[in-house]
Amino acid sequence: MINLVLFGPPGAGKGTQSEKLIKKYGFVHISTGDLFRWHTKNDTALGKRVKEIMNSGALVPDEITIAMLKEELDKNPKARGFLFDGFPRTVPQAEALDKFMKDNGSAIHFVVALDVTEAEVRTRIAKRRETESRVDDEEEKLNKRITEYFTKTIHVLPYYESQNRLNTVHGIGDIGEIFESICKVIDK
Ligand code: AMP
Repeated sequence: MINLVLFGPPGAGKGTQSEKLIKKYGFVHISTGDLFRWHTKNDTALGKRVKEIMNSGALVPDEITIAMLKEELDKNPKARGFLFDGFPRTVPQAEALDKFMKDNGSAIHFVVALDVTEAEVRTRIAKRRETESRVDDEEEKLNKRITEYFTKTIHVLPYYESQNRLNTVHGIGDIGEIFESICKVIDK
């Protein structure tokens, strides 16, 4: 079974496409953003540690994020395939993920990167604000999240590209067509 990473800036459509991919392929979905939101909502010890960081739009330190991810992997030892969404966001996270998968006799087979311009991302998040109230979608915090993406997270792409694991999919246009493009990569 295939394990993959769905990659892209905030607002690229990772959540929407993940839902469709899970339905079609039965992946176990691991979204570190969703996990952190669950912890802050339920006011756990971890939630208390990351709340301020998340609300500012900054990345949570690798050490905390990697530990949470590992815990989540350990909860799903029999998973048929993982879909990682919002992880890895730094090269040390990508390296840790490879190590965890290898330790389980598995691997991250490839990455699907949704290629979306910054202007498009900003328009989409402005729309999302009308229906969902996410504190980190507010203007100033959004700027921080976009900066984090273009200064830190983007460096994850050459990591996978140099190992021939990167597939880029045009992420603007019809949701169904984008989904088809992702499926083509997976089915290949
Ligand atoms: P997301 O919903 O994926 O955009 O994540 C929301 C927030 O959770 C991010 O802005 C970060 O503060 C935090 N977060 C989620 N995933 C990660 C990650 N892999 N590394 C560091 N911080 C993360």
